Amino acid sequence: MKFMYTMPVKIIAGEGCLNENRALLMELGRKALIVTGKQSAQKNGSYADAVKALEANGQGFFLYDKVMSNPTVDCVFDAAEAAKRESCDFVLAIGGGSPLDAGKAAAALAVNAVEKDAIFRFSCAGALPIAAVPTTAGTGSEVTQYAILTNHAAQTKTSVASPALFPRFAFLDGRYMRGLSRAVTINTAIDALSHSIEGMLSVRASVLSDPMAKNSIKAIAECFRALKEDEPGLPVREKLLHASTLAGMVIANTGTTAVHAAGYQLTYHRNIDHGRANGLLIGAYLRFVEKKEKSLGTDRVGEILAALGMRNLDEFDAALNGLLGERERFSAAEIEGYAEAAMRAKNIANAAIAPQKQELLAILQNALAPGA
Ligand code: NAP
Ligand code: FE
Repeated sequence: MKFMYTMPVKIIAGEGCLNENRALLMELGRKALIVTGKQSAQKNGSYADAVKALEANGQGFFLYDKVMSNPTVDCVFDAAEAAKRESCDFVLAIGGGSPLDAGKAAAALAVNAVEKDAIFRFSCAGALPIAAVPTTAGTGSEVTQYAILTNHAAQTKTSVASPALFPRFAFLDGRYMRGLSRAVTINTAIDALSHSIEGMLSVRASVLSDPMAKNSIKAIAECFRALKEDEPGLPVREKLLHASTLAGMVIANTGTTAVHAAGYQLTYHRNIDHGRANGLLIGAYLRFVEKKEKSLGTDRVGEILAALGMRNLDEFDAALNGLLGERERFSAAEIEGYAEAAMRAKNIANAAIAPQKQELLAILQNALAPGA
């Protein structure tokens, strides 16, 4: 059996972990580019904690707080310019996956000369050191080497990937998630679930990634009921956070597959949140895999269902439908366009059972226009 597993991120977890371990930030440099979204970091205590830690260390900082959801290429070049102009020598990225990814991309662009239109094909030789503080429990970006950016030229979302983009430190403090809206909590939990499920269905799944994937699937499924509450409480927040980091450790090694490839289309063209987009597709993808497995004699879907604590995919669909609520409607032309574009994404080939074009079209029809 051949496999590889890499995880260079030091993970520090618990209430107050950023300030209790602020000495670690001293290893990164003298002045931080703090990268955040537009509002939430200022409200949930994460930005204040970061400033406190840096000031106590005697480190300087410059705040770049203009990151939007699904960050654009312009945004990350702007953030990199700020890092250079302000002589920042490390990045402290705080927020959901969008500010974390933008901070990681900016860290790379600050030390690599790249033209904007070459960003998705440049070979990233290095980056400023990065520390990440997630404030959503979903993307796992704090432990991955990916920065996912809106790619207008290709009308999709595309990753910049490099070992240089692994943060040096990830600080996991569930308190920052208190007050996160129910919709974002649900969508991000589904994103993490999708990472672990797709990780298990990847050609790169291994005896190391599988137990991590199964543990995070189990933990997230145990939170399904609590996800419907207005505020699930700190123990649930922490459980979701640890599960999403675990799922990030999975995809850092396995990559994602067809669900993410097609999900990017829903986000790009219909502005559907990343996690929700995956949630709309994953049930139909699992049914496709289950059918194929009958002739292959494997039972990865059975293993996933066991981790979920469910007997069959009907139960899984019912649970997801309960979380997703009313589904968006899509025309036949939209679905055909998504299938065509998703087939060009590099994640497709990553699936152990990769759908052909007509099969992906059928998956998307079943997911997005059932009965049509
Ligand atoms: P997000 O786009 O980072 O944030 C969504 C919304 O939640 C924003 O309005 C944000 O507000 C708000 N928010 C964040 N934390 C909050 C908190 N603690 N309390 C209240 N509001 C909060 O959403 P996300 O789902 O976490 O990230 C999605 C992005 O990650 C996508 O671009 C996706 O492609 C990417 N992703 C990356 C990886 C990877 O490995 N790198 C993996 C999966 C997904 P503010 O704007 O005010 O902060
Ligand atoms: Fe994702």
